[in-house]
Amino acid sequence: MRDGRKSIFAATPESLADWFRARGQPSYRVQQVCEWLYARHVLSFEEMTNLPATLREALAEDYQVSPLREVERLCSADGRTVKLAFEIAGGARIESVLMRGGRRPTFCVSSQAGCAMGCRFCATGAAGLSRNLSMGEVIGQVVALACAAGEVGNIVMMGMGEPLVNLDAVLPALDAMADPARFGLGARRITLSTAGITPGIRRLATARVQPNLALSVNSPFDRQRTELMPINGRYPLAGVLEACRGYAQRSGRRMLLEYVLLGGVNTSQKAARALASMARRLHAMVNLIAYNPVTGCEYKTPEDSETRQFRATLEQAGVAVTQRFRRGRDIKAACGQLAGRPSAEH
Ligand code: SAH
Ligand code: SF4
Repeated sequence: MRDGRKSIFAATPESLADWFRARGQPSYRVQQVCEWLYARHVLSFEEMTNLPATLREALAEDYQVSPLREVERLCSADGRTVKLAFEIAGGARIESVLMRGGRRPTFCVSSQAGCAMGCRFCATGAAGLSRNLSMGEVIGQVVALACAAGEVGNIVMMGMGEPLVNLDAVLPALDAMADPARFGLGARRITLSTAGITPGIRRLATARVQPNLALSVNSPFDRQRTELMPINGRYPLAGVLEACRGYAQRSGRRMLLEYVLLGGVNTSQKAARALASMARRLHAMVNLIAYNPVTGCEYKTPEDSETRQFRATLEQAGVAVTQRFRRGRDIKAACGQLAGRPSAEH
């Protein structure tokens, strides 16, 4: 928190109701405030013009609106991708991405400043972890993106950080996204991506809001996966996949397996066949992502023929495959490129 006041994004409608009641205010004030925040995306109390001025001042004494300070906004050459950078209390930077193009925009949201998982191909991992984001900081990104987009998009928790090691903030943020009194998004419109934190997946399976779950596989072989993603040493594939199976059963959702194609590294036919059988056992879809270049990483973007062949092997095995667009590479907003550094330093 910038100045000791709590962000209003971290307040539940119930806690706001208590706050208004304590001031002798009618309960419809909660709806008024929620409407301003979550439907109209205002970022100051002064703009909440249907509240009496004294009440707006009282709110501002106890709460700040957003705990985030926007410090940079970059738009891709095609105008469809916008990267927002924010400074958070303590001075770290986080990034969020707005992608337009589909029926609805997609909001890519961060869960941590940096990341402790150290995946070898990821700019966020290279920087290490600064700190966990609070629930208000997660929701602050959604409101800022909604403000930029003019509407609430689908949300993917695929920005900086590993969401399943910050569930104390992520679970209440999921509640806010799904709550009809706040953003009112169906859980189907929210996707959370994880590097594979077995206890986190189990905990998510018992949460109130169960988003689509995407697992970053990146290699179907434990030895190689541990090289690429050190967290696999702690949570090897078998246990992760077992937890995913439990999640799919409980949530009734189909899992998504993400696979970053690293040219010449994890694109063999053997890997494709092993990934296909993993996907079939889980009834999961596969999302292929071409490696996006990261400064200091020696990996290569795959050749088109390499990608085609890998995809064909999956499809021949009966697996549903999608391929992720390389959106926003020119502004370092593509998957794995969020480093939280000012653009001049990239
Ligand atoms: N920590 C979570 C979510 C954030 S990373 C996770 O790892 O799943 C989101 C996705 O970006 C992951 O699937 C990850 O494998 C992918 N990614 C990381 N670095 C990348 C890069 N350089 N190019 C393409 N995708 C990358
Ligand atoms: Fe962290 Fe995900 Fe990047 Fe791995 S890929 S370092 S888990 S953000």
